[in-house]
Amino acid sequence: MFRLDNKTAIITGGGSGIGKAIAVVFANQGARVHILDMDEQGATSVVKEITTDGGKAHFYKCDVSKQAEVKQIVDGIAAGGAIDILINNAGIAHIGTADSTAEADFDRLVSVNVKGVYNCLHTVLPHMKQNGGSILNMASIASLVGIPDRFAYSMTKGAVVGMTLSVAKDYLKYNIRCNCISPARVHTPFVDGFLAKNYPGNEAEMFEKLSKTQPIGRMGKPEEIGYLALYLCSNEASFITGCDYPIDGGFTKLNN
Ligand code: NAD
Repeated sequence: MFRLDNKTAIITGGGSGIGKAIAVVFANQGARVHILDMDEQGATSVVKEITTDGGKAHFYKCDVSKQAEVKQIVDGIAAGGAIDILINNAGIAHIGTADSTAEADFDRLVSVNVKGVYNCLHTVLPHMKQNGGSILNMASIASLVGIPDRFAYSMTKGAVVGMTLSVAKDYLKYNIRCNCISPARVHTPFVDGFLAKNYPGNEAEMFEKLSKTQPIGRMGKPEEIGYLALYLCSNEASFITGCDYPIDGGFTKLNN
């Protein structure tokens, strides 16, 4: 009856923002969702919300940058049945230019946004190869156009696009599709945290200013990303692999 009936999905960073919206949309469409997140409180409340509505959701406390942790959880999920969908969504941000970005911050961004994606691909693909599936990685408009003060972040999202293309090519023979999504600003705790940290006392004004940089005149809503993710991971998207979808209120194509 539903588009993701009998599908099992792993969603990293499903405890907040975009990952939460994807988890809710997928569960509403019949998927059993497995949320891997460091934030126990946030992810537990997402699981509660989904299960209260009659959906199927589980939480695993996990730092995606730690391969041993990821592998133990992924192997445990695979022991219960096929993994059909992987959403590599967990990510962190950083403000800085190439000369102002400290080595420790550069390494931290790589460990979560790049190695975290690799860890999930590396541990899920041996299982997914057996039955096929769909993988979706969260990139950003920062991998498509130059964004000021986002040196390390842009670098990591460019790497996400590269991993997407490589996996799409190598695993097509196993009936695995792999795509990525590049959102512009979406109103999530990620954006609120960024504004509070970088523009204390001036958050509302900066929120308006950032919203206006998107031709549509507002930030995206997490569920808008959730619906694109749903499409790309469902059977209706069976002809789509190796693509990077901007979802950006016109930011990359109409800002001229
Ligand atoms: P968010 O901060 O609201 O949620 C991110 C989630 O990831 C949190 O639950 C956090 O606990 C989890 N997480 C962070 N590090 C982790 C780790 N090491 N291991 C496991 N979980 C971890 O962020 P969001 O806005 O929902 O962003 C989600 C993704 O979308 C990120 O990859 C981000 O780069 C990307 N993105 C966001 C925007 C935006 O404007 N919000 C725009 C483009 C791309």
